[in-house]
Amino acid sequence: MRYNADPRQQAVRDRVKEFAEKEIIPVYQELDRREETFPREYYKKLADAGLIGFAMPKEYGGGGSSDIEYITLIEELCYYDAPTGLLAAVPELAIFPIYAYGNEEQKKKYIPKCASGELIPAFALTEREAGSDAANQQTVAIIEGDEFVINGEKIFIMHGDACDIAILFCRIGDQGEGRPKVSAIIIETDKPGFKAFTLKHKMGMRAATTGRIELKDYRCSVSQQLGETGKGFRYAMGTLDGARIGVAAQAVGVGQRALDESVKYSKSRIAFGAPIAKLQAIQWMIADMSTRLEAARAMTYKAALLQEKGERFSMEAAQAKLFASEMAGFCVDRAMQIHSGYGYIGEFSVIEKLYRDQRVLEIYEGTSEVQRLVIANSLLR
Ligand SMILES: Cc1cc2nc3c(=O)[nH]c(=O)nc-3n(C[C@H](O)[C@H](O)[C@H](O)COP(=O)(O)OP(=O)(O)OC[C@H]3O[C@@H](n4cnc5c(N)ncnc54)[C@H](O)[C@@H]3O)c2cc1C
Repeated sequence: MRYNADPRQQAVRDRVKEFAEKEIIPVYQELDRREETFPREYYKKLADAGLIGFAMPKEYGGGGSSDIEYITLIEELCYYDAPTGLLAAVPELAIFPIYAYGNEEQKKKYIPKCASGELIPAFALTEREAGSDAANQQTVAIIEGDEFVINGEKIFIMHGDACDIAILFCRIGDQGEGRPKVSAIIIETDKPGFKAFTLKHKMGMRAATTGRIELKDYRCSVSQQLGETGKGFRYAMGTLDGARIGVAAQAVGVGQRALDESVKYSKSRIAFGAPIAKLQAIQWMIADMSTRLEAARAMTYKAALLQEKGERFSMEAAQAKLFASEMAGFCVDRAMQIHSGYGYIGEFSVIEKLYRDQRVLEIYEGTSEVQRLVIANSLLR
């Protein structure tokens, strides 16, 4: 049972259901199993339906949704297919720094084309030596005249293999004690010096691809910098605060699907002459799944509401992301146990795919350990 904390949510749920029945359900299994290449035609369908750029500001061609509506969109898309939710979430993550920290010219140039799906944006922070320790940027931008010359590599970048622009975080100098001064730069990927590769054999979320980016003497105008020199790390962390609520919503969608599938299956599967739903062992698993799911949903919408009201929400976003992603792990695991053989083999049910899709929710946009650090730092500061 979906609980609507706010009347605006039902309209979003209905809109996604209609889209899912026509465009997601017929293709999601094929998208999961095909060669890992960015699904351009499918992305265009999402964009044409207004599901890309849903939360981007109206004045720049976006859908202008509230935070609550956007989080509902991601929850619902992930209910039907988690990587489809991710396809819609990544452009919002990538565009946020332009909207929040960019100048008017940058906003007008990039946001409308990303909202319409004409340009695919990426958020490029992570490097081999800068994962959880995201400030340790080794990609370097040096200034020559009125240009940046950029050298380095980014890894694990969602849509990095297909993007037309990327918000690139890179070292622009040092701020002492060996810690880099970081700037955020909008790069266009059709220029010399930019190369991108698809990372293969990803466990889950396969319809939304992940890439590695190489920059070799890549040049762009210094006017491509976002906001102030040296503030890039702060911009990245500000962006991730909001994005973590989105990951919590992905987890709520996955958890709800695992629960619904389990309820349905346990009523139809007969063992020892009766549906397994009659067994207390199964009932307890379902009760625990639903209880954790509702707690995660409440935490997720609380964080989104704080964000919408303009209040501080960094700790609540980390708590929601931590709890909801681990809740989804619990739910897909119990769903697998309830479905047993019919869960483990993908041709019988969606559980095998849910199990693979869920795992990264505890890793990206800050691992569970990093969320615990953010929460503890907020309380102990
Ligand atoms: C599919 C996928 C998509 C991604 N998309 C993007 C993207 O679009 N853009 C982007 O910039 N990045 C992206 N990432 C990167 C992601 O955010 C990082 O993988 C994540 O932050 C962890 O970094 P790491 O993998 O280098 O692990 P590490 O930082 O090497 O961590 C290894 C382990 O050590 C633990 N650890 C590290 N430091 C601490 C600490 N101080 N205290 C306690 N434990 C610690 C971690 O929790 C983890 O368990 C993506 C990753 C994946 C897998």
